[in-house]
Formats: sequence, structure tokens, C-alpha cells
Amino acid sequence: MTLRTFVNRTLAVVFQPPCAACGEPVPRPLEGAICDACWSSLIPLRPPLCVRCAEPLPSWRAATLTALLCPRCRRSPRAITRAAAVGAFEGALRDVVHALKYGGRRSVAPRLGTLMQAAGREVLAGADLLVPVPLHRRREWSRGFNQARLLAASLGPPVADLLVRVRATPPQADLPAARRHANVRGAFALDTWQATRRAGSGRPPLSSLTLVLVDDVATTGATLDACARVLAEAGAREVRAITAARAVSARPR
Ligand SMILES: [Zn+2]
Ligand SMILES: [Zn+2]
Repeated sequence: MTLRTFVNRTLAVVFQPPCAACGEPVPRPLEGAICDACWSSLIPLRPPLCVRCAEPLPSWRAATLTALLCPRCRRSPRAITRAAAVGAFEGALRDVVHALKYGGRRSVAPRLGTLMQAAGREVLAGADLLVPVPLHRRREWSRGFNQARLLAASLGPPVADLLVRVRATPPQADLPAARRHANVRGAFALDTWQATRRAGSGRPPLSSLTLVLVDDVATTGATLDACARVLAEAGAREVRAITAARAVSARPR
């Protein structure tokens, strides 16, 4: 028996830490707060997906007719060119995201990040910088961390906090979909200190960069869209997005 196995078994027997998602005892506590059964029960989004927002499309037939865009992306132009997510914001994935965000289980981020890398291979290909969706500083202070930045840090490309949340807004989850765009309008701005520091250090200007926004959940996409508009106005060459989960409005049959 290795020392790790011994410690794992001892912790599991003595403390019986419950899985942060399902509440069952975790057999190997050193490996994190979520049990293997929960990790393996995550259901990935099944193609065809809208290339712009990762919304599942009803069928390949509908997909080819509309160039792989969902009705919403066809109707209104978006600042984001490509998006990906691991799965729908429900079941075990919802529990895993909540464990990270509200349960403070930071150890969840690396493994969730690995799943995001796999789901977002095309979104991350050629990415120059990852930009976490910022929390208002008061919320980050009370939570102790920004879950989007933890996830971004486990994805590979360099992370830059190019955005700030200049207005504290009610959580999007508490609002009806129709009010979410208005809720985040004007809530984000370019972090001028970061931007000036970049420019002063001789690093490539934003206009030559492909940026990828990172967040834990995309619900209506309003937050990501508001962030992308700020980056696009600052001259970014392209803005993409990757999230751990996304709300899925119409399930494919
Ligand atoms: Zn579990
Ligand atoms: Zn779409």
C-alpha cells in the first residue's frame, strides 16, 4: 500500500468527508471534494451545437440548413465568435459548479478545467489570452476568490484580468431572462491599469489578440456578451468564450 493510499483510506474512515455534490462519503479524499461517481455522471453537450454559443441544435439537418447557428444567434449578431461548455447546467455538473462557487471547494477547479479543455479544444486553439469574467470586488472579497479565474488558470493559455466589474449587479440567476441583458449593461469596463501596463511593457496590442472569456456558467449569455463588447471595443481581434456549464433551453430530441 502506498503512503497516498494509506492516507486516503485513513481520511475516508476517520473523517468520512461527504462528496460536495451527492453527499456520499468520498473514498479518496486526497483526490478532491467530488466523488468519482459524480465526475463520471456528467453528461457532455451532444453535437450538433451552435458554433457561436454552444446551444444544442435539434438535428444535423437543421444545423446544415442554418450554418450551425441557433435561432437566437441567427437573429441577433453577437460579439462572441465561438463558444464551448462541458455540459448543461443541471444534475451533477450543477452540483459541481455550486461546490466550487458557493461551497468554496477550490480543488474542483483543476479537474473541471481539464473537462473544459477537452470540450473547448477549438475555442482554445490559437487563443492568446484567457480573460476571466470579473466579480465585483466586494463579491470577490467576500467569496475569497473568483471561480472564473480559478477555472481559467487550469486551461493552459496565459490569463489576464483585462476586465473589471464597475457596477455591482444582482446575480443573473435571480432575474428573469428578459431582464438579464439590462442588468449587465454597463457593468463591465476595461481594466485601464492592466491595459496600460500591457501597452507599457511592449507586449502585443489587443488588436492582434484572440481572447477567450472564461466563466463558470452561461445562462442567457448576457454577461459574456457584455464582456465581449468591451473587449471588442478595446480592439480585440476576436473574442471567444468557454464556460464549465451552460443553460440549455431546448433539449434536442
Ligand atoms: Zn458524489
Ligand atoms: Zn447560438
